[in-house]
Amino acid sequence: MEQADSYFTQDTEKEKTRGTFTLKSLKNKSIPVKAVALVVAGIFLGMILTLFLPSLLPGASRPLAESILSDGKTALDTINNKAGQQTADAFGKTGSGLFCYTEYIPEEISYHPADEIGKLPIDDEESYTAYLLEHTNENEEYIRARWDLYQTIVGYGLNELQGLVVEAFLRTPRQFFVREKNLGRAYEDTWLPVGYGATITDPDVVAMMTTTLDVRPGLKVLEIGTGSGYQSAILSNLTEEVYSIEIIEPLFYETNELYHELAKEYPAYNNIRRKLGDGYYGWVKYAPFDRIIVTCAIDHLPPQLLQQLTPDGIMVVPLGQPGRQYIIKVVKTVDEEGDAGTKRIDVYNGLSVKFIPFRNEAGSSYSAPE
Ligand code: SAH
Repeated sequence: MEQADSYFTQDTEKEKTRGTFTLKSLKNKSIPVKAVALVVAGIFLGMILTLFLPSLLPGASRPLAESILSDGKTALDTINNKAGQQTADAFGKTGSGLFCYTEYIPEEISYHPADEIGKLPIDDEESYTAYLLEHTNENEEYIRARWDLYQTIVGYGLNELQGLVVEAFLRTPRQFFVREKNLGRAYEDTWLPVGYGATITDPDVVAMMTTTLDVRPGLKVLEIGTGSGYQSAILSNLTEEVYSIEIIEPLFYETNELYHELAKEYPAYNNIRRKLGDGYYGWVKYAPFDRIIVTCAIDHLPPQLLQQLTPDGIMVVPLGQPGRQYIIKVVKTVDEEGDAGTKRIDVYNGLSVKFIPFRNEAGSSYSAPE
């Protein structure tokens, strides 16, 4: 946003300078009518740009995040720049000045999923709806749309949504994680753009990956690619130990604010530790993790992520070439000599998916080009 603003200022000044120059010349009456017309058009264009350019800039098309941003910035106060910089330094990176490493760690854990699991009725739509109407401020329309989506996913017969994940899925209000213009599509089984080239993943893929991850209260989970925040919101209903890393700076801050705002009603989101940085290197400070979920596409297993996974730990990752990945469940094995290996299973029955590429700080994909 900052960069875009200064670009905008420069542009306006250019128009102003052009205007002054022409007015002076006009006194000499040596300027042709065509030039005057050009100047008037220039000033007019400047006015138009002043009015409309801000709405065309990246970020401005996100009314949901914007309204949240306008409401205080206390979450940002708790972000610990120094600690983030230390993490960056541990990898020998000094930070370019443009890319600033930050993280959010809650001061205390106020929500314990183990105490809540089992409270939401999941056997029939009416009891489920009645419970959420009583315990949240959600609109009934969304509550019921979420039930319908649950039925749709179960109806595929692929066993994508099972066990504890059913309740976590039914508790998570996807409408808050999509952009306002897509509100009407929040409960369609589809991915949607959330800006900056990122997407919120299809609900059935999220359900399947989360089911495969087999998270239970107390397990420590790392997500690579916070994006909209939806995946980690679901995870926060399964364990208090959720960690998530996002590489796109403005998206990190938007989702950080969103969690902060939503946590007033959904305290589970306050437990989500989040970091701005390159997830390829994991999160050394809080390793090891019992579970790792990668939500961006890559053609190999990042060695540091495997290293930071506990023995017998599970990693779920979209593995494959750009444009086509398979959802792979990786179980870390450690033999008697202490050597680590993996057991890999394609959990989506050979179906391919297309995730946003796993990128480095410079923006290049970690996968080999097609
Ligand atoms: N889990 C997200 C899906 C977001 S799409 C959700 O529920 O909405 C994938 C995300 O991975 C994008 O936001 C992208 O910016 C992020 N990403 C890509 N490379 C990354 C990296 N090296 N480290 C962390 N995040 C990365």
